[in-house]
Amino acid sequence: MVDEVSSRGGILWEADPSEPTHAADAAGMPENKGFLRPVNISSSLFFESAAEIFARVHREIRPRTVVPPIDAVYKKFVDPNSRIRLEGGRITVTITDLLEGAPAPVTEALAHILLNKLYRKPVSAQHQHRYRLYLNRRDMRNRIDLMRQSRGRKAHTGPVGGTHDLVAIFEDLNTKHFGGMMARPELGWSHIRSRTRLGHFDPSHNTIMLSRIFDDPRAPRLALEYVMFHEMLHLRYPVDHSGSRRCVHTQEFKAHEKQFPDFKEAKALLRKLW
Ligand SMILES: [Zn+2]
Repeated sequence: MVDEVSSRGGILWEADPSEPTHAADAAGMPENKGFLRPVNISSSLFFESAAEIFARVHREIRPRTVVPPIDAVYKKFVDPNSRIRLEGGRITVTITDLLEGAPAPVTEALAHILLNKLYRKPVSAQHQHRYRLYLNRRDMRNRIDLMRQSRGRKAHTGPVGGTHDLVAIFEDLNTKHFGGMMARPELGWSHIRSRTRLGHFDPSHNTIMLSRIFDDPRAPRLALEYVMFHEMLHLRYPVDHSGSRRCVHTQEFKAHEKQFPDFKEAKALLRKLW
C-alpha cells in the first residue's frame, strides 16, 4: 500500500514492504532477478550515512536540481514502514528501526523508492524487489511480528466505558477501603467481553484491566466493584511473580478481601453472569 498523507502542507510517502511489486509484474521480471543483479551498489559500499545515501540517490534521480537538506533518522514504528516528507525545502526521512544496520544496498533501495514516490516518478522494479526481499526474509518477518505484538494496540480501551468510568469506581473504593492512599494505576476495559478473565492486574505495566462484560447496564455495580476491589488488593499485596503468571492470593490478601461489604453477595453475582 502506498500512502500519501498531507501533513502541515508537506508531502509524506510511505514504503510498505507488503506492497506487491507491480513494476516487477508489469516488466515480467522473474522473482529474484532484481535482487541478484547488483544495481549501482559499488558507491554505497563505503561508510555512508543514511542521509548521504539519500542525497546521492537524489542527485541520481534529479541531476539538474540542487539537493535539498536531508535529515534521515531511524524511528520506532508499530508498522515496518518508512516515511519521507518534503516541507519548507527540507526533506525528512524517518526510517523504521528495523532497517537500522541494514546493508547499504537495502537503504539505497529504500531511498530510490521513497524519493521516486515523493517526486511521483516510477520506482524501478529492481529497487522495489531488493527492498521487499530483505524485509521478507524469515528473520526480518519474525522481527516485524514481534514488533507488531509489542508495539501494537494497547491491551485495553481506556477507563471510560459506555456505562461505567473505571476511574470513578477505583477512587470510590480507594476512599472507602484504602483511606484514599492507593496510587491509581492505569485502568482500562478489555477489548473482549471475557467471562473467564473478569479482572487482571498486570504489575509490569501497572495496569488493572476489567472485562468489558461489566460495562453493561445489566451488570450489577456490586459485581464490578468487587472485581475492582480484588484487583486493588493485588496492588496492595504484591507477589513476586518470578516466572509464574498465577494469580496469587496470600492469607492476608484473603482476610482483607472478606472485609468487602456484601462479599458473599458479590461472589454469588459472579457465578451467574448476565
Ligand atoms: Zn486474584
